[in-house]
Amino acid sequence: MPDHDAIVIGAGFSGLYQLKRLRELGLDTCVVEAGGDVGGTWYWNRYPGARCDIESLEYSYSFDQELEQEWDWSERYAAQPEILAYLRHVAERYDLRRDISFDTRVVKLDWDGERAQWTVTTDDGATRRARYVIAATGCLSKPSRPDFPGMADFAGEVYWTSSWPHEGVELAGKRVAVIGTGSSGLQTITAIAPVVERLTVFQRTPAYAVPAHNGPIAERLAALRPRYGDFREESRMTRAGFHCAEENSTFYVDTEPEQVRAEFERRWLDGGLCYTQAFRDILTDVDANEAAAEHVREQIRRKVSDPDLAERLTPRSYPIGAKRMCVDTGYFEVYNRDNVSLVDINAEPIHRLTERGILAGETEHEVDVIILATGFDAMTGALNAIEIRNGERTLREKWAAGPRTYLGLMSEGFPNLFLITGPQSPSVLSNMLTSIEYHVDWVTHAIEHLRAKGLRWMEPDPEAEENWVNANNDVADLTVMPRAASWYMGANIPGKRRVFLPFVGGVGTYRQIGDGVAIARYHGFELA
Ligand code: FAD
Repeated sequence: MPDHDAIVIGAGFSGLYQLKRLRELGLDTCVVEAGGDVGGTWYWNRYPGARCDIESLEYSYSFDQELEQEWDWSERYAAQPEILAYLRHVAERYDLRRDISFDTRVVKLDWDGERAQWTVTTDDGATRRARYVIAATGCLSKPSRPDFPGMADFAGEVYWTSSWPHEGVELAGKRVAVIGTGSSGLQTITAIAPVVERLTVFQRTPAYAVPAHNGPIAERLAALRPRYGDFREESRMTRAGFHCAEENSTFYVDTEPEQVRAEFERRWLDGGLCYTQAFRDILTDVDANEAAAEHVREQIRRKVSDPDLAERLTPRSYPIGAKRMCVDTGYFEVYNRDNVSLVDINAEPIHRLTERGILAGETEHEVDVIILATGFDAMTGALNAIEIRNGERTLREKWAAGPRTYLGLMSEGFPNLFLITGPQSPSVLSNMLTSIEYHVDWVTHAIEHLRAKGLRWMEPDPEAEENWVNANNDVADLTVMPRAASWYMGANIPGKRRVFLPFVGGVGTYRQIGDGVAIARYHGFELA
């Protein structure tokens, strides 16, 4: 007999909801979490300025209308402490903590085909067995930690945004370097620039950033509450799993130049990630993409007073949207401050850290603190960190040339191992909450089906998986998305095979496919 019916790995948004759903099915479920408390992303990423870039009204659970009605978000984009408080509230409201083992990392999963169960080994040496394992391990939970030469020589303090000290860091009056200008870098830079004595930013690739126009949300929340359920339902069928004022159905190629400009202006003033939905063809038509990119470049030139600096901050080498877009609150304006400077590491590569700072090009930048905002081994990193084995086969080996899944939910050869927001699902190209809830519900129904039919396991059949992998690559190739050296492509991790990781076809479409598969009695899966 297994120790549990199901083991869930991870206690972020995904793991918490999965625990609740499996309990409702009557399954004895245990969650194993490497961190010291619930929260996942929002437990680890406590750097200054950390906040969501999908509006909180949508970057929140929709599964319980009472929860939705009782929780008050204070801002359009909530900051990390508020999101973490929300997740703690959820854990308490549904009494989830009693089934979670904290400070425990899963290191190995071993499938026993005869008993149809997984043996789960944790870093304390303990093993537990369960029929089902649900990897709610997160798309952005395995930090990428480049090992700069001379790291040990640096006499100052070093912090990673992805595991910021819980007690906080005193940066006031210090000389600080930030390496990395993705979302976490931008948020950190904007938050600390007014506080530190000197800030030196090391940039490899300039970011496309659209303004957040963050602010209080009480009025909008009150207006939305009577129709919150419908609002959520609409989101589920959109392209990215969240509302844009309108999802534009017109094409750039069919639009007059003045209207194009007006549309970009309007979206810029609205703020947020709906900017890239100004026209249907922004991610598929090179000219449409360039027009959207040029509008952002114009805004950067407007915001940054020094033209040379503006140029260095202007993204030109990749299509807009092909790397994760940033949502900012005064990021570019930071560079008008006297205490902020920019080092372009393409022109002045970082050679090494020294005792006093960072040697880039010919210059040694003396600093007291180095903050590394160097991102994550996205989508596959946390899964590949676990030895997942079925006899001689390991998932890591199977995925060496890129992940292979069916619907991003399971991988052939690894029965009863379900992935929440796995590779080849919309995941990081969407409001993750919409995608997480869909996957958790899908997995819960699949397990319910297995139990109702007296079946012991399921896994994709190889042909369905092959078709899904090919369809993913084909759809991605119809867009500009693979044209950037992005983490969507695995390009930020040395040696990682470059394949486009998320499903680019949209949340609504994906959902129709997933529902169709389930209705057709799990077509493309083998059940026994
Ligand atoms: P996570 O929150 O990553 O939780 C996974 C958990 O699994 C972690 O706690 C980890 O410790 C644990 N874990 C992993 N491996 C193991 C193991 N082997 N053993 C035990 N435990 C393990 N998405 C959006 O849609 N909108 C946003 O605005 C947004 N902002 C973000 C901002 C930042 C700074 C980051 C890093 C990500 C952001 N994301 C955003 C993506 C975010 O990761 C998801 O929205 C969401 O929080 C994912 O929840 P999750 O539970 O699936 O994964």
